[in-house]
Amino acid sequence: MHLLEVKNLHVEVDGKKILNGLELSVGSGSVHALMGPNGSGKSTLAHVLAGKDDYVVTQGEVLLDGEDILALPPEERAAKGLFLAFQYPFEIPGVATMTFLRTALNEVAGRLGIEQEMLRRGVNVGFSGGEKKRNEILQMALLQPRLCVLDETDSGLDIDALKTVADGVNALRSPERAFIVITHYQRLLNYIVPDVVHVLSRGRIVKTGDKQLALDLEATGYAQYQEEMA
Ligand code: ADP
Ligand code: MG
Repeated sequence: MHLLEVKNLHVEVDGKKILNGLELSVGSGSVHALMGPNGSGKSTLAHVLAGKDDYVVTQGEVLLDGEDILALPPEERAAKGLFLAFQYPFEIPGVATMTFLRTALNEVAGRLGIEQEMLRRGVNVGFSGGEKKRNEILQMALLQPRLCVLDETDSGLDIDALKTVADGVNALRSPERAFIVITHYQRLLNYIVPDVVHVLSRGRIVKTGDKQLALDLEATGYAQYQEEMA
């Protein structure tokens, strides 16, 4: 059984059809890259997986470990091991747990180059773009999720921050965990090498291949998959 199965997914926002019969299967232990032109529906898929309001599923199923999660609220999806970078609300359950967490926290924060002073600030308050993203990887490392969805984690990162984020993700790769790495550019995939690459266009996956597909796209651009201009 696949960790994630998206079957014939149709999604509308404000009455506008955005996902159009999307099919995607992600096995445990694998890293899938989701690429595609702007406006093709990549973030919409991430939001629907996370359970964000305003996205209306008109048809289809999203199965996590064989269980349809579409009826579940976002926090129950998170409890089942779904993690969307940028959106996870961080809870602090109790003092004893905190002592335990702090040990892990200090270790992982140190590895990611996150200062103690940053940990004491409000979540993401006054953080630079790169600091916010390292903070996301820190949360992901501590929560040990089963399926991690990273939506354009690379946007706005310089090369050093990009490598730090990629190292954080690579350290979390394991047979029990899968990743969907959403990116417009091939660059991130030099550091997070995907097992499978998909191209999304007009709300459905139009091509699937291995990491070579991402390299080909870098050379050819998205012209052959481009959205029609309105
Ligand atoms: P991508 O992440 O691939 O660039 P998105 O999923 O953000 O694409 O957007 C796909 C399409 O859905 C775009 O045409 C966008 O304008 C539209 N869209 C996304 N979110 C909303 C929203 N909340 N309200 C209206 N339209 C939206
Ligand atoms: Mg997007």
